[in-house]
Amino acid sequence: MTGRSLAYLARIPVDQVKGIGPQTMKKLNKAGIYSVTDLLLHVPRRYLDRSQIFDLSSVPLDEEVTVGGTVMKVEQRRLTKKRLMTTARVSDGTNVITCTWFRKWMRLDEGAEILLSGKVERWQGRLQMKSPDFELWKEDETLVTGRVVPIHPQAGGYTPMQMRDSIANALKRSRPITEVLPAVMLARLGLMGRDDALGAVHFPETRDEAWPARRRLIFDELFRLEISLAMRKHQQVEAATGIRHDPTGDVVGAFVDALPYELTRAQARSIDEIQADMAAPHPMHRLLQGEVGSGKTVVAVAGLLTGVQSGYQGAVMAPTEVLAEQHYLGIRELLEEAGLAPAQGDPTGRSGTGSLFGGDDTPRGGVNLALLTSNNAEVNFLPPGTAARQDVIEGIAGGGVDIIIGTHSLIQEGVDFARLGIAVVDEQHRFGVYQRVQLREKATDYDPDLLIMTATPIPRTLSMTLYGDLDVSVLDEMPPGRIPVRTVHETRSASRLAAVYDLVRSEVRAGRQAFVVCPLVDESDKLEVKSATEEHERLSGIFPDLEVGLLHGQMRPSEKDDVMSRFRDGRVDVLVATTVIEVGIDIPNATLMIIEDADRFGLSQLHQLRGRVGRGEHASTCILIAEPTTPQGEERIAAMVATTDGFRLAEEDLRIRGQGTVFGERQAGTKDLKLADILRDARLLVQARDEAFSLVAGDPDLNGHPLIRDEIAAMLGDDSEWLFRS
Ligand code: ADP
Ligand code: MG
Repeated sequence: MTGRSLAYLARIPVDQVKGIGPQTMKKLNKAGIYSVTDLLLHVPRRYLDRSQIFDLSSVPLDEEVTVGGTVMKVEQRRLTKKRLMTTARVSDGTNVITCTWFRKWMRLDEGAEILLSGKVERWQGRLQMKSPDFELWKEDETLVTGRVVPIHPQAGGYTPMQMRDSIANALKRSRPITEVLPAVMLARLGLMGRDDALGAVHFPETRDEAWPARRRLIFDELFRLEISLAMRKHQQVEAATGIRHDPTGDVVGAFVDALPYELTRAQARSIDEIQADMAAPHPMHRLLQGEVGSGKTVVAVAGLLTGVQSGYQGAVMAPTEVLAEQHYLGIRELLEEAGLAPAQGDPTGRSGTGSLFGGDDTPRGGVNLALLTSNNAEVNFLPPGTAARQDVIEGIAGGGVDIIIGTHSLIQEGVDFARLGIAVVDEQHRFGVYQRVQLREKATDYDPDLLIMTATPIPRTLSMTLYGDLDVSVLDEMPPGRIPVRTVHETRSASRLAAVYDLVRSEVRAGRQAFVVCPLVDESDKLEVKSATEEHERLSGIFPDLEVGLLHGQMRPSEKDDVMSRFRDGRVDVLVATTVIEVGIDIPNATLMIIEDADRFGLSQLHQLRGRVGRGEHASTCILIAEPTTPQGEERIAAMVATTDGFRLAEEDLRIRGQGTVFGERQAGTKDLKLADILRDARLLVQARDEAFSLVAGDPDLNGHPLIRDEIAAMLGDDSEWLFRS
């Protein structure tokens, strides 16, 4: 086929397009547009349809429409340096509509004739539009064929007309754009050809023509993502040498029997799934998904012990030091209760107490557990505080340590494992793909099993699709007896704060504990520490009779340990903290979570923070102290008060903020989704997945589909690099 491919055009810098000079290129780069392909995929947000202009007297409400008229009156008021409120009254002779924009800068002249595109609402009997797109009626352009005007997202300081110009130039120079998908696939899915799609998405003859074009481009995005997942999965299965763990030993059974509670059915099922994977010859790649507080940790420990009883080591990587330490302490205690603690002072943990790998009637030996963070090293076979960092590193390399818990420090140079059998990544949204690959690569001659854990609530079909290279276990059931956290919104008024402090006192009197989370301070650890320190001082004054602790990221590790262990033991009543406590922290006795300036946090963060309480048998309360200054802030607070369902909150978050933020920017692939919306386009996503997986099944290295292969390499960039690594 002739023409130029998007892969080829992805390597051509955007200043090669006629009319784009170095200055403009810089600005376009800032908007993420580097190559000609990027520019071609900078598609209109909406279309303004000159052929279908409604009269204001009969315009349908709450749907995308175009109306036109004369600007009667313009008023502008500067709210902040970056926000200028512009209000215009526009009349078309049949009625009047009021439009409002919030922009840094805007010019609109009274008397101008304009076209407006967006949703019309009726409020107190009057018509209004919020931030509609607009065009001057008289703008005379040859580019706008037909009567449909594309409205591109702003970038590079371009006027809408300049943007159209540049894209038209880019298209003219590039077309025809090479098709990469097989014709049969296009026919099967009813998809438009790529060249037609790119033409029609930018400059459609009619508004209707734009939608199939857009659908094709959305499919392309999803297909690229799914192909890369399918290849990754294939390579994992094919190229990998896994371990056949033996799930029949009695270590896991002893552990489960000694738990102070019964496993939920979901936990038992997940453990079975994990053990089945581990017993199989190919390496496990499993995602364990479960709402905050659903009990993922014990499931992971069962997996780790399955590895240990087969003679391998297990590793857990946690995103923060505080969380790693909590896991270490928690798992140490569980092992002790199960009679699996090693004899102290015995670096192997085995001599004298019998071998872990002996026959059935040999007394069971201990499991050697170690903690390694950038600042801390502990082992459970020496008295606390006596292990040296180097001993722990040697224990991991020599095989004396069975389970190692740590932070990023585990994947550093110099930490080598004797025989890593299972790697667990906790709170995986805090890590990138590379880090999970790096951890796995700590085993050199074979591929260890991998379990990654997440509380990001996404529907099962979507998670299978989005994490197409992973199998999924879901903890869809909470441990029994949990009482949903009551959530209330409070203002900063003196009387409301006094009521909040009364609640703190009464909870503490009842033997419970409280968290106070200090405001987020933009981009500055230092300021965040300052605000937490001040809040700690203030609350110490308000509660002279209570023990008020402080925890923030810049404290010395020993200080962090100290306050966390005092909080855990109940010696600290109120813990003032920054968001270091956001993930994973498990203190079942804490029943009060107070979040200051709560409107400044994201929804998923608020949900995680709230998840720190309601983890035990006592009723808990989450207090959001907020006086929201933005509509989004207000919506987030309302959503938190309305529901404790993480899945519903995630959907709200998608709606309020867009998807990138929900899945985390570091989540491979999703950041490449510019057009697709994984909820809205769920059907197309499933189709893309099916097509991609069956294509890769028949042609694993894409040797028969070199164009697709090139495109993945060129357009998924770094994420795909290691796909082609042999
Ligand atoms: P998460 O899934 O958020 O990581 P954790 O593993 O920290 O949750 O568990 C939350 C709390 O629930 C812990 O205190 C844990 O001991 C407790 N827990 C876990 N499983 C059960 C169960 N089956 N029954 C009762 N409590 C449980
Ligand atoms: Mg956890």
